[in-house]
Amino acid sequence: MTTVKDPIFNALGKHRRPEFWLVFMRCAQVASLIDVAFFFLFHALGSPILAWFNVISVAIYIVVYYASKNRRKKIAVALIWFEVIVHAALGVALIGWGSGFHYYLFMFIPAIFLSTSFKPALMALAVLFACLIGLDLMSWFIAPIEPINPFALKIVHMFNMSVVFFMFSYLSFYYLKTARRAQKKLNIMATTDPLTELYNRRHMNNLIDKALLRSTNTNQVIGIILIDIDHFKKINDEYGHKVGDDVLVKVAQILKKEVRQQDLISRWGGEEFLITLPDSSLTDTKLSAERIREAFLNCHWLNEVGVDVNPTITAGISELKHTENLDSAIARADRALYKGKEGGRNRVEA
Ligand code: GH3
Ligand code: MG
Ligand code: MG
Repeated sequence: MTTVKDPIFNALGKHRRPEFWLVFMRCAQVASLIDVAFFFLFHALGSPILAWFNVISVAIYIVVYYASKNRRKKIAVALIWFEVIVHAALGVALIGWGSGFHYYLFMFIPAIFLSTSFKPALMALAVLFACLIGLDLMSWFIAPIEPINPFALKIVHMFNMSVVFFMFSYLSFYYLKTARRAQKKLNIMATTDPLTELYNRRHMNNLIDKALLRSTNTNQVIGIILIDIDHFKKINDEYGHKVGDDVLVKVAQILKKEVRQQDLISRWGGEEFLITLPDSSLTDTKLSAERIREAFLNCHWLNEVGVDVNPTITAGISELKHTENLDSAIARADRALYKGKEGGRNRVEA
């Protein structure tokens, strides 16, 4: 039985599942590992409050991990905000601005704009900026409560800066991948028919125009085949729309199999398909159209779509000269197709 496929789904391949949650979960894992290391480090450096806050941080990141796993975005985001801001504030208050704990606040900037709409993003940005300026001002006037030795402070600073650097790089890479995937998806949506995965009419027109513009050989002719499934309405009426759709998918597969690599196939309308064959005289085009027509007769439709539909096709062919207008060549193929229908269907006409 032919299954209806979605070209977007296929094109995105292994990336079809949103990775957003995976990134959240990975960040929670990395953050909790860092906080475990911090627990021991700040104990050793004689800053017990900062050390013990990491126990709370690890607990928070465990909740973030499971909230992300269960797609509870609000809880996960709120907890991350809370943890990062409180941790930064504590770090600056206890061991000073030189610890570099405030760097973590910068990580929110791209995340804010990518995860919410403009107005809430501006609000969040304002809150973030206020926190940053507030911490900086606090460090001007209040001396560190649990200072550590200057060399250890330099190491903590370098560590925090490095963590933020690499997490920023990872997140930027993820955002870039997300943007590229969205672009790919839009491109597929704009150029293909979702049911048959063939080019849509608009894109086919563009491709033919481009091919004509590119071609420097003024003697070149492009063969045109316009195909219409015979009595397709009857298939829908007798077996239902789903079988009709399955037939259209199978038709696309037959066409792909029967044409050459350089030929272009499009879904031109409901059950109409337009094929262009570069460098094909009318005689060659007729041969190709006949081959396609016969492929329909040889197809085992019962196996392919589950019912014995045995559809036939009628094709109208024409040739498009280099100097000619595409519409007039298609109009000729359309008239030939009409002649084929009038003549009893299941035939190729020029
Ligand atoms: P003819 O031999 O003269 O071409 O007869 P026909 O029944 O094929 O022609 P007609 O134009 O009357 O019917 C075309 C039918 O194709 C009508 C429409 O419901 C059906 N159709 C168009 N698009 C789709 C689609 O995406 N899925 C399905 N299942 N049917 C479609
Ligand atoms: Mg039709
Ligand atoms: Mg038809």
